[in-house]
Amino acid sequence: MNFPPAEECRLCRRNCGTARQVRAGRCGMTDEVRVARAALHMWEEPCISGKEGSGAVFFVGCPLHCVFCQNREIAAGRGGRAVTVPELAEIFLRLEKENANNINLVTPTHFVPAVIEAAARARENGLRIPIVYNTGSYETVKTVELLAGTVDIFLPDLKFYDPEIARRYADAPDYFEAAAAAIGKMAELTGPPVFDGRGIMQRGTLVRHMVMPSHTKDSMRILDYLADTYGKDLYVSIMSQYTPMPGIEKRFPELGRRVTRREYEKVVDHALALGLTNAYIQERETAKESFIPAFDGTGV
Ligand code: SF4
Repeated sequence: MNFPPAEECRLCRRNCGTARQVRAGRCGMTDEVRVARAALHMWEEPCISGKEGSGAVFFVGCPLHCVFCQNREIAAGRGGRAVTVPELAEIFLRLEKENANNINLVTPTHFVPAVIEAAARARENGLRIPIVYNTGSYETVKTVELLAGTVDIFLPDLKFYDPEIARRYADAPDYFEAAAAAIGKMAELTGPPVFDGRGIMQRGTLVRHMVMPSHTKDSMRILDYLADTYGKDLYVSIMSQYTPMPGIEKRFPELGRRVTRREYEKVVDHALALGLTNAYIQERETAKESFIPAFDGTGV
């Protein structure tokens, strides 16, 4: 496997070229893999979690750092435990023994080379369940290409369409262009979704979009793009779980509240009008902080 040179990381579109053996990049991380939690997770889409749960491995650090992030402690690079590649492979195998429907790598972009090695090791040692790559979609196309043969299911966000919104909330005005290209490669790698007899996804790409307060127009432009590019059969998940983190209204007054029922329904109606009937719709009750798991090193 031909990984990018470790002395000059360019795994994500920050393209910061950091020598991660000696210091942290903009993602907040050195080349030491840190995991904040590895446990069964029941709150993904039904085709991912099922009844048994998804084996979620939450990585510390993030290339995006959205201002509204609900996992911001770990996204900022704080907490978690350092793991070696063999330990990560053992975590995957343990989650399978706990009856997880898949291994769900949450925000793994900045650790892609280690994740690929750990997955290969776990497969050699008997791992059978699908590997899910759950991402904010700010990786390069080259990084996605590295995942061919490792990842079975991509679960990419498509967060913002408007460059100004992406700049304001993630300092990433090129977000849409980057994410659209990455998602294009993901869809190409997996092909159309495949489900088992229980309706659990075994292969495929499921695009997620979280509706933000005051930004339904941006959501609708994203859905227009997805329907135009991938057609009506695309699997999408329209999320209503935005939760204002304490104090966010001081710098971003428009983000200081939850999404209203009217805003969410407007976006869902738009998806249905576009013919996107393979859309997962969220109950608004899930927009509670209690659905944010404890990032206390559980299972690491
Ligand atoms: S993954 Fe981290 S170190 Fe690598 S390019 Fe992105 S921000 Fe920089």
